[in-house]
Amino acid sequence: MRDLANRVRSLLRPELAALHPYHVADARGLVKLDAMENPYSWPEGMTEQWLDRLRQAAVNRYPDPSATELRSALRATAGVPDGAEILLGNGSDELIQIILMAVAGGDAVVLAPEPTFVMYRQLAVSLGLRFAGVPLRNDDFSLDMEAMRVAIRQHQPAVIFLAYPNNPTGNLFREEDVTEVLAIAPGLVVIDEAYAPFAGTSFLPRLLDHESLLVMRTLSKMGLAGLRLGYLVGAPEWIVEFDKLRLPYNINVLTQISAEYALSRSDVFDDQVKRLLGQRDYVSRQLNELPGVHAYPSRANFILFEMSLDAGRVFETLKARGILVKSFHSLLGPLHRCLRVTVGTPEENQLFLEQLSKILGR
Ligand SMILES: *Cc1c(COP(=O)(O)O)cnc(C)c1O
Repeated sequence: MRDLANRVRSLLRPELAALHPYHVADARGLVKLDAMENPYSWPEGMTEQWLDRLRQAAVNRYPDPSATELRSALRATAGVPDGAEILLGNGSDELIQIILMAVAGGDAVVLAPEPTFVMYRQLAVSLGLRFAGVPLRNDDFSLDMEAMRVAIRQHQPAVIFLAYPNNPTGNLFREEDVTEVLAIAPGLVVIDEAYAPFAGTSFLPRLLDHESLLVMRTLSKMGLAGLRLGYLVGAPEWIVEFDKLRLPYNINVLTQISAEYALSRSDVFDDQVKRLLGQRDYVSRQLNELPGVHAYPSRANFILFEMSLDAGRVFETLKARGILVKSFHSLLGPLHRCLRVTVGTPEENQLFLEQLSKILGR
């Protein structure tokens, strides 16, 4: 066995030894507020209509390889500018991977402010790309433009990722800062709008003002995390090349039918988003009332909050009481006293607030 482990090490790329698989917590039996999922199920009748469509799915056939109907439905509902093209991914994670595969092979650098969505770094490293993380400002998690200018000049990144709003901090970067990054970037800039339904702002209308801008979205956070569907919008010149790296049939037939149906009922999801926005503001206010707690302002469907107590202990105690959130206590730096809670139903949020308040001694 020792021999096999050595053979594996020597045969595979050395980067793999340093990587860990993406960790997903076991949420069985817990109130799940860790992964930015929409907590709401579908109203009466909607499930029946959806199942009627699924009944006609030809699962013995390969799906439409270019998902033409789904792409036109997305074009219409998301407001994709004329002249821009759409690439679909099995979640936006796959799109990040495709973009990075397109620049891998040489000594390209990928740059992102940190802390941010971990998959930018993870996928860059997995493809043998160099990754440059630029710390966000400590006080409000805005872009440290002085540091960004220096890092962009020094590394000449092939790709810059900006999560807008950022995960796990929840804030939108200042528009003028993003615009400056677009102006000085020597390569691609990917604005990751995973939380667009909650943010109330977007770079999509300005897509064609910047040749090297790509806007990435997902249906996951809006309420369809189980389907795995992300989309990338950009100038056709880019998208045509990325499409060569996409595996054929990456969007399966059940996802194509289900997403198309869901988009035809966008009123339902808009309503759920509206309720979640109301709850987000309520939970933020309540958190800020708790002793020693500071909730950072959020433009997404989660809230990052800092405590005077050890975040790891609070996380474990919440979990023991049936509530799963996300802890950043193991990170060095500005997040080590922080937890991130996803906005749930009013009942879930109340349970969370009650338990946290007890733990903090109220
Ligand atoms: C959740 C998240 C994603 C991943 O979305 P999927 O489409 O589910 O793969 C991408 N970017 C950010 C910033 C996220 O928070």
